[in-house]
Amino acid sequence: VTTVWAETAYLSGAPVAGVRFGVDAAGRITHVETGVSAHDDDLRLGTVLPGIGNAHSHAFHRLLRGTTHGHGGDFWRWRESMYDAAASLDPQRYLAVARAVFAEMLVSGYTAVGEFHYLHHTADGTPYDPAHAMELALATAASDVGIRLVLLDTVYLAGGFDLPLSEQQRAFDDRTPERYLERWHALRAVLPAEHTLGAAIHSVRAVPADAIRAVLAGLPQDIPLHVHVSEQPQENADTLAATGLTPTALLHSLGALTPRLSLVHATHLSDDDIALIGAAGASVVLCPTTEADLGDGIGPARALADAGARLAIGSDQNAVIDPLLELRGLEAGERLSSGQRGRFSPSELVRLAASGGYTSLGLGGNDLAVGDLCDLVEVSTSSVRTTGTASGQLALTATATDVGRVLVGGRVVADRGRLVGATSGLHSRRPERLLAAAIATLTEGTS
Ligand SMILES: [Zn+2]
Repeated sequence: VTTVWAETAYLSGAPVAGVRFGVDAAGRITHVETGVSAHDDDLRLGTVLPGIGNAHSHAFHRLLRGTTHGHGGDFWRWRESMYDAAASLDPQRYLAVARAVFAEMLVSGYTAVGEFHYLHHTADGTPYDPAHAMELALATAASDVGIRLVLLDTVYLAGGFDLPLSEQQRAFDDRTPERYLERWHALRAVLPAEHTLGAAIHSVRAVPADAIRAVLAGLPQDIPLHVHVSEQPQENADTLAATGLTPTALLHSLGALTPRLSLVHATHLSDDDIALIGAAGASVVLCPTTEADLGDGIGPARALADAGARLAIGSDQNAVIDPLLELRGLEAGERLSSGQRGRFSPSELVRLAASGGYTSLGLGGNDLAVGDLCDLVEVSTSSVRTTGTASGQLALTATATDVGRVLVGGRVVADRGRLVGATSGLHSRRPERLLAAAIATLTEGTS
């Protein structure tokens, strides 16, 4: 058993002074003392937030950061660039990119990531040999840097309603729900035990209703399940035309709306959609920096929370990897659309990022209570951004630049922008160097 002491710790979203945590061998909190001084052997930290769950990521989209702003366009134009990036990857390159991106997440305060992964096969759709090469590359990447991985292995079967997949989408294609399920169960048997295998339905436009039904029936009931929903008005229009239902109502009719489901984006919802999601107690993963970057729109976060939905955040396309800026973006969107401040209290923002994220990923609550994982993020209260911040309002002033030590399971895995701990497989402890090397490998191959 180790002990960790924090000058201030956010317990259930609110700051408490002088907190000591006991941590067991499994990395879980065994006891919490408050209002106490540090003991000699304690690992001493400053102000800590609970580790933040990144409930929606496509690691390889990071390759597009800083490259797509010249040509304007919309979400669909951006998607063409994304397909080009996907085509440049093989397991080795995927590993290098994911390792660098997971490293940036960890030093930025994300202690767990839900990787929404659909690059299963080679560009022409042939399975890799050995099997699961792309999935295991993600697992290796996460292990190498020390972040918790929930691999949301994604079923992706169609290019739209009554449309086959395009040439560019072959790598995503499992052809039938049965083959997807076969691959999923085989993957579960070989994925290292330190990681969790979840599942995802890409969207109601990419998986026909019958296939969704088959996938729901063939997956275990206790794993996290994610789905992209209503990111763009076009998806709603197409779904209505094909089925007479909104994407959310269609998922409801298929029995998919349950507490283990996370709806990603949920930007363009009807009042009935919001009521259905809330009544189901499902999670909604908001990705504010991505939704702003792609011009998606502003999702009804407050209305969803009021209806009973659980909220989480995700970095999605990874053009921004900064949980504090996601929270800022979430609250900013609410303020811009409502004309009111304080739509989410600072404590609600911390809780949705940490506990909401972990719940969406099937990792349990994350409020720094007994039984929770001891995942911690130290945030400086004396930087140029955070000096003078009132107690409890750190989430509205800090950025990832203010993150100091990061602990996963009670062990320090990052410190002020660098990886620490077991990083034997890496040529550098600096995420930016890992990224530079990953990007260099890609440009070599495209001459
Ligand atoms: Zn996504």
